Amino acid sequence: MKLIFATSNAHKLEEVNAVLPPHVELIGLHDLGHHEDIEETGATLEENALIKARFIHQKYGQNVFAEDSGLEVHALDGAPGVITARYAGPQRDNDQNMDLVLTKLIHHADRSARFRAIIALILDDQEYLFEGILDGKISGAKQGEKGFGYDPIFIPEGYDQTSAQLGAAVKNKISHRVRALQKMLHHINGG
Ligand code: IMP
Repeated sequence: MKLIFATSNAHKLEEVNAVLPPHVELIGLHDLGHHEDIEETGATLEENALIKARFIHQKYGQNVFAEDSGLEVHALDGAPGVITARYAGPQRDNDQNMDLVLTKLIHHADRSARFRAIIALILDDQEYLFEGILDGKISGAKQGEKGFGYDPIFIPEGYDQTSAQLGAAVKNKISHRVRALQKMLHHINGG
């Protein structure tokens, strides 16, 4: 089956492609010739995932899923949450975003955090939402070169290295996105 993944993020496409079964053919927005950004104006991850999925579904009339994810830091009352990508400003700079989290946590003993991903699926004109969570904590400093986004400062539960040190082999088994994706696949396969 063919499924559109409404993302232009090559890292997300790669991560999802690595765990999809061979009978699902993934089509990214660039493959469709869609290059404009879809504005994420929602107040929650759920709203933003639905905005992206509905936009592409209306434009192309095909089955589609979209994902929105965020980092939720306990001592910061769940921030950056829905504004994770632009925490330090609209320039969406990963280094500045991570520095801001590290600075805000300097005086906090509690460094627990989680990544949360919401997938919105529109399948045969019906809408579905799936959630995936990865618990962990924020490291003291940036470490590691692999991955993307906040990976250099996020240590998944059960590990003592950041996601950027652990790399794709570990991340593709445990990531919030992969967990949400597994729920979606279970649903698509009639589970
Ligand atoms: P989105 O593309 O609007 O969902 O942005 C989510 C934000 O969370 C971006 O800043 C991403 O870099 C970050 N993010 C999402 N998933 C991950 C991940 O697996 N590792 C590190 N950062 C992530």
